[in-house]
Order: sequence, then structure tokens, then C-alpha cells
Amino acid sequence: MPRDALHIAGKIIAPGTDARVNIETTQLYTNTPIYMPVRIFHGMEDGPTLLVCAAIHGDELNGIEVIRQIIQRTSVEHLKGTLIAVPIVNHLGFIHRSRYLPDRRDLNRSFPGLETGSLAARVAHKFVSEVVSHATHIVDLHTAALHRTNLPQIRTDISDEENLSMAKAFGMPVVLNSEVIEGSLRYVAGQENKHAITFEAGEALRFSHDAIKSGVQGVINVMAYLNMLDDREMPPLLVPTIANSSLWVRADGDGMMVNLVNLGDHVKQGQTIGTINDPFGDKTIKIISPINGIIIGHSTIPLIHQGEALYNIASFRKISSVAEKINDLRSYIKNQ
Ligand SMILES: [Zn+2]
Repeated sequence: MPRDALHIAGKIIAPGTDARVNIETTQLYTNTPIYMPVRIFHGMEDGPTLLVCAAIHGDELNGIEVIRQIIQRTSVEHLKGTLIAVPIVNHLGFIHRSRYLPDRRDLNRSFPGLETGSLAARVAHKFVSEVVSHATHIVDLHTAALHRTNLPQIRTDISDEENLSMAKAFGMPVVLNSEVIEGSLRYVAGQENKHAITFEAGEALRFSHDAIKSGVQGVINVMAYLNMLDDREMPPLLVPTIANSSLWVRADGDGMMVNLVNLGDHVKQGQTIGTINDPFGDKTIKIISPINGIIIGHSTIPLIHQGEALYNIASFRKISSVAEKINDLRSYIKNQ
């Protein structure tokens, strides 16, 4: 029996075809409509419907480039199931180079949204009702917030077995088991029995070569895991190590931070990982790692107020093997 056509935002996509659909989400106050372009590859054969989306936070750019490269590599003739690619979800935030919508709301705290709600709630509702509703699996691409950077990593709730399998398939050295935050896309996914993972890599408003290469490879790995790729052999995978928690090290004082470590570094409890100095050199505060762990994120701006989150450190049972896998990933990316 032939596969059904996909009905999305008033358009009908026949099996074995690909299309671009522009979904109107809102308007500028110039009366200009704002569209969310969605690229759809609706394969001839049955399979899962994978949604890959980015820039729910409008200033997070790495995922947009990941999706551009995925679209260029995808051909509907060789696809099982359906790929829905949304490079930019939060267009108003993107235009303003901002994480947030112009109403200062965080779109990733506004799901599932409301047709008659705030601006963020309306955009969220449109995305969920027109796009997310079709998906069985979701890969949501993010970066660290402004003035921070993240080691390429997957975050998901591993109590869902399929989430864990997708997270492993993505092939990053680190998977952070993270609780679902109410209002996030993963929250909606969980409520509607969809499987969702978040990829975090790099920093806001910048392209990172490593983050983008890791992201492209990871999405292809997930598509291969979901049997969406015809005759494609599974690429070599790293077996990720799962961290059940991470902690933020906060500034003990104000000043200018000198960072002494890199993303992915293995740090020891009691190790000095940075210093906070006053401009005259009269006062230096050491930033000490409270645990043995791996640096999975850190602040990139030297201007520090007391209490600010500076380093995100994840702890693992076998830290040295995680450090090895991070080196393996680096050399793999270098050879791409
Ligand atoms: Zn984000």
C-alpha cells in the first residue's frame, strides 16, 4: 500500500517528493508577515518522522549551519520515513540577534503555547500544531547562551529508552542526563510521547567548526540509527559516557577572569581552573574545581560579578575514558 501524503500547513506533500513550506508565524509592526520556512523530505517508504530544528533561541547559529548541510546531503529518493528540517524557529529573535522574542520571553519556556496567548505563546503554538505534531523523533540544536561556550554534548531524559538510544547514536563523548524543563520543546515531546534529544555545542552568535562538524555527523548517525538512510553503513560511533549531573562553579568575587582550562579538559578536585583579578593586580581570587570532572561549558567573557556561573563541570565514574573519547572526537573532526 502506498504511503500517505503529508498534510502540513495547508500543503500536501506526496510520498517520494520534497518541498519547502512557509508557515506564517507572526507579523512585523510594518505589517510584513514573518514566515518560518520548513523543508520537508517525504520518503516513499514508511519510517519515522524526524524533526531537526535550530534557533529556538534566536542567537544560536551553529544548528542553522548544521541543518543547511543536512539539507544539502539529503535526497528523498534514498530516504525512508520523513525528515522535517527547520533551520530557524525563532525568526524574530534571529533578526534581532537575540535569544528571546521581542516580548522578552524565552520561546523554549513557552511550549506548547497558546493560539490566543502572548507573542511567544503564539509562535510556540504555531510551531507545535503545524510542525512538531507530525514528528515521532526530534533533534533540537542549541549552543550555550551569550558569552558562554559548550563542549559538543547531548542532553536528554534517559528514562525514555528511545531517547537514550538516540543520544548514544548521535555519538558525542558526553551525554548529560537532564531533567525536562517545563515549557521546553523536550517537555512537549515528552507529553506527546515523542522522543527528543538536545544537542548543545559552541557559543551564541558564532560559528564553531567543531560544533558544526559534530552536529552534522550526529544527525546523520541518528538518521542511520532510525533506519532512514538507504543502505548507509553506520558510521564509526563513539560510545558516549553518561553524566547524571553537572554543577556550575560560581564566582567568589568580582573582577576580570583569566581562564586556565579548555572545554573537554579533565580537572581534579582542588585544581585552580581560573583566577579573578582586579585591574591593578592587588587582588587575585583563585577559582577552584570542587570535584573531579570534565569541563563541559564555561564563561567566555572576562568581566565577572560575584555569583556568576563560570564553569559547568560534569562528573563521571571513569573520567579518563571520557577524556580519551573527547580526544578521539577531536582527531575524527580534524580528519573530516
Ligand atoms: Zn538554546
